[in-house]
Amino acid sequence: MGIMTRLEGVPDADDALPGMAYFAGTGPYGKTCGECKFRGLIRESSKGIWNENLQQIVHKSYRTTQCAMFKKLAGCHGSPVKKDYRACKYFDEREKKRAPGSRAPSEGA
Ligand code: SF4
Repeated sequence: MGIMTRLEGVPDADDALPGMAYFAGTGPYGKTCGECKFRGLIRESSKGIWNENLQQIVHKSYRTTQCAMFKKLAGCHGSPVKKDYRACKYFDEREKKRAPGSRAPSEGA
């Protein structure tokens, strides 16, 4: 908790977690970064490998646990974001993977 009096509904210093796009707990109630589509920034390896077929250097891409919204707003890469952090106001729910052959709820029966 911060040094000052905590006000209900107002973010505190404890809600400012490294790598998050905004204060923790300012998003939908009960949602976490693990359910947000912005967690999992795709990055490219800095070291490239020469591809003979393409005749160019190619870089491997990999998924991190960093927040893509943080990168968009701050212009730099943030710290890894834990999946149990309470969601921030930029939360956007990640689409859940459906089993092959199953229908989306909007497709109806
Ligand atoms: S809720 Fe989403 S946008 Fe906000 S910090 Fe977590 S991953 Fe980033």
